[in-house]
Amino acid sequence: MQKESAPQTLVMKFGGTSVGSSEAMARVLQIVKDARAGWRHVVLVASALSGVTNLLLESAAAAAHGDSSQLPNAKQTLVAKHQSIADILIADETRRAAVMNEIDGLARLFVELCQAVSVLGETTPRTLDAAASLGERMSVRLLAAVLESAGIPSKYIEAGEIIITDDHFQAAHPDFALTTERTRRILLPLLEQGLTPVVTGFLGATREGIVTTLGRGGSDYSAGILGAVLPADEVWIWTDVDGIMTADPRIVPDAQTLPQISYSEIAELAYFGAKVLHPKTIRPLVEAGIGLRICNTFNPQHPGTRLVANGKNGAKLQKGEQIIKAVTAIRQQRLVTIEGRGMLGVPGVAARAFAAVASTGTSVPLITQASSEQSICFAIPSEASPSVLSALEKAFALELAQRDIDRIWATEEVSIITAVGEGTRYTPGVAGRIFTQLGSAEINVLAVAHGSSDVSISMVVNSAETEKAVRALHQLIIQ
Ligand code: ASP
Ligand code: MG
Repeated sequence: MQKESAPQTLVMKFGGTSVGSSEAMARVLQIVKDARAGWRHVVLVASALSGVTNLLLESAAAAAHGDSSQLPNAKQTLVAKHQSIADILIADETRRAAVMNEIDGLARLFVELCQAVSVLGETTPRTLDAAASLGERMSVRLLAAVLESAGIPSKYIEAGEIIITDDHFQAAHPDFALTTERTRRILLPLLEQGLTPVVTGFLGATREGIVTTLGRGGSDYSAGILGAVLPADEVWIWTDVDGIMTADPRIVPDAQTLPQISYSEIAELAYFGAKVLHPKTIRPLVEAGIGLRICNTFNPQHPGTRLVANGKNGAKLQKGEQIIKAVTAIRQQRLVTIEGRGMLGVPGVAARAFAAVASTGTSVPLITQASSEQSICFAIPSEASPSVLSALEKAFALELAQRDIDRIWATEEVSIITAVGEGTRYTPGVAGRIFTQLGSAEINVLAVAHGSSDVSISMVVNSAETEKAVRALHQLIIQ
């Protein structure tokens, strides 16, 4: 039974791999049991089983091109993935048949949706959301039934009932006021009854009830939203790694898990390529002062990484403490340079340049400008470079003809290496150490930018030197 002093409300989100097999889901079961023993209210948010969202979206895309030949296979795979877990974790035959019947119904819905798409020969963002959200709609049914079967009173909830969004399909924005009202109205009575709700991650619905999604990887965000509006005391994101690491362990074998990291550091890391947490998760939680923790379903004893308020790490940096917390790389970028003497002192060149880039739907992770104002240089994803270059050439056709701009060009493939740490803000000489380190590893730095949040420094290097640069900078992380 719970202790008198039991903390109040815990939201736990389980990612695709955490619910992706019977072994994983059995672990989830134990984690939920432990959480229920320690917390008064526990709310779960689940992703689709790993691989399911991709399968749904790929099948819908194929259908849009008139190829529905794989649909029967896709349906079978969907059902089989869920069935194999149900077979092992739901002992009661009636319960198992009931949940599989619902999942089968959703899989049929999916086939119908794709058939309609293939007749029309196109998909819309709205249709894609209807398709993609089916993965979570299946997984919560399965997880709730597995919990029930283990004696944990549970109920699945489709987030369309409680997370109300605008109609920006595929990247919908929640209406926090409505979401707060709905979430409390629906979840609190269930919690009072001692039920553990299992809410679909990833999706919401418009006021009219049309399903939307929050963007790929958006289940973390769902947990952040629910944690903020309930409100919860803590949100724990259960995934398949121990937490946030100092670097990608595939590049740096001695990378370590960070016991804690600040909100602005993780925001920077999420932006610069570390895939552990959806970047939007953080904001509603920081604003509400709610604790966030990342933990490993496959290693639940590990304390994981705790998110702490900004300033806690760097402000009173002790001797020997880490200045740089983590190093990441974003690959497959190119640097675009616009250069010309005629740009000197001319206002609006940057604005026009970025408007042209934005018109291609490309976002820019890094910008630098020489103080001579004779060039602007920024990074874009490699695959966007043909369309960005042609948009820029069009936007500056006149200047190019008049030779005010001499050249607009893109480099070969490069990587952006980012060193993240609040210590970079408070400690003099960090940039110096970074460049010395890269210099002694004989790595040429093509461009530099200080992260706008002031807790990171990014360097652009040739793609062939990515690993070497990450390893060199990782040596600066003193544990
Ligand atoms: N299932 C969704 C995706 O794969 C959402 C999530 O897992 O966070 O993008
Ligand atoms: Mg994820």
